[in-house]
Amino acid sequence: MNVAVLAIQGAFVEHENMLRRLGVTCVELRGASDLRKPFDALVLPGGESTVQGKLLRELGMSDDIKQRIADGMPVLATCAGLILLADRVVNDPRTYLRTLPIVVRRNAYGRQLGSFRTLGDVHGIDAHGKGAFPMEFIRAPYVEEVGDDVEVLAKIDTHVVAVRYHNQVATAFHPELTGDTRVHELFLDMIEK
Ligand code: GLN
Repeated sequence: MNVAVLAIQGAFVEHENMLRRLGVTCVELRGASDLRKPFDALVLPGGESTVQGKLLRELGMSDDIKQRIADGMPVLATCAGLILLADRVVNDPRTYLRTLPIVVRRNAYGRQLGSFRTLGDVHGIDAHGKGAFPMEFIRAPYVEEVGDDVEVLAKIDTHVVAVRYHNQVATAFHPELTGDTRVHELFLDMIEK
């Protein structure tokens, strides 16, 4: 199984390390020519959504990636990646791929609480009874509204921080930074199905 990781900015190496631990071959997407390589699924890492979104367009990768997701390619998006997929951002006029019918708030936890770690339940990953998932938030967004058919996978306090919509899983936190592989395993299960 080949999983492409968008490798233009942000925390992509951490995703690659986790995927390799799970026996997956990673393909780095750094430019449009990389889209010709074979891959079965896609990871959009955390980082800075405005920078990633601008580079996706400038490198001529946006339309191809958007089409693949719309055609059903499994995608795991974290933090800035979730913003790239969102239909709308309440506090920023910019939008990017817009394949996921959610409304998000960028940097939603404010400056004081910019980064924090907590434990939370993620629906569907606790088959082995290992309990709550360690969630690392870094200047994270959260989801303010979900559209039809969007499944809420996790909430912290009242805020939605992980969702699934058909072939798309998106988290506001960074599952690649904790050593707990269960969110990535959920994603790999989706690819196999
Ligand atoms: N604050 C970043 C943004 O708006 C996201 C942060 C992250 O990916 N850790 O794009």
